[in-house]
Amino acid sequence: MPELPEVETVRKTLEHLIVSKTIQSVQLFYPKMIQGDCMDFQNHVTNQTIQSIKRVGKYLFFHFQEGIVVSHLRMEGKYYVQPASDPIQKHVHVLFSFQDGQSLRYHDVRKFGTMEWIPLHGMKDYVKKHRIGLEPFDSDFTMGYLQAKLSRTTKMIKPVLLDQTIVAGLGNIYVDEVLFICGLHPETRVHQLHHSDIEHIISASQAVLGKAIELGGTTIRSYVSSLGVSGRFQNELLVHMRKGEPCYSCGTFIEKIKVGGRGTYVCPTCQTKRG
Ligand SMILES: [Zn+2]
Repeated sequence: MPELPEVETVRKTLEHLIVSKTIQSVQLFYPKMIQGDCMDFQNHVTNQTIQSIKRVGKYLFFHFQEGIVVSHLRMEGKYYVQPASDPIQKHVHVLFSFQDGQSLRYHDVRKFGTMEWIPLHGMKDYVKKHRIGLEPFDSDFTMGYLQAKLSRTTKMIKPVLLDQTIVAGLGNIYVDEVLFICGLHPETRVHQLHHSDIEHIISASQAVLGKAIELGGTTIRSYVSSLGVSGRFQNELLVHMRKGEPCYSCGTFIEKIKVGGRGTYVCPTCQTKRG
């Protein structure tokens, strides 16, 4: 599944490739992925020029003169930019043909991705309606914000950090890395955290995601970007995917456990449980 750094890599790559291109036509091969009326979607988008591409959490926002297309890649969504005359591959569900002969193709084997046309000034409302939490880089992502969110639950820290309404963009890989850096066991209950733990979670989240974005994300078997860009963060992983290998910090073998149904990597020595 693409996580925030991978989506950011897609955004940056698309920005270079398609900003200022004008859409000549739109073909929908799987209309169900469009939220709202398909005809309206096609009518809105046709003849519009892409002004910019923004991202909030794992949502992409394609800004046009008269509105915005919001795209969420979910599990397997990918974009391809190629000549409009190329044959249409299997699993391409939306095809935007540009006036210059190029095309943007949305490809999704699992069909979980979504696309929606929203008004030009609708981004804030969209973020609110979909309860997208703050990103670790957001200036409002402070001790006060996180403490307030955490005070409402007694859950384990890992599922809480995976909750996109609390922190946007920390997925399974990155939460494992953050908790390892903080020396916190993923099953630690939120009310057992100290003030310093929360501070540490904030700084580690920023550091891990920042580094991952810098390296273009993580290319592992679950998601490979389509735009010819491979992430390199997989070479930097401290704990995730390292089952049976020695911890870089203490040499104990990394274990893989399940936490809240998710495969979780942990160093049993550096990340002890609190009783
Ligand atoms: Zn260790």
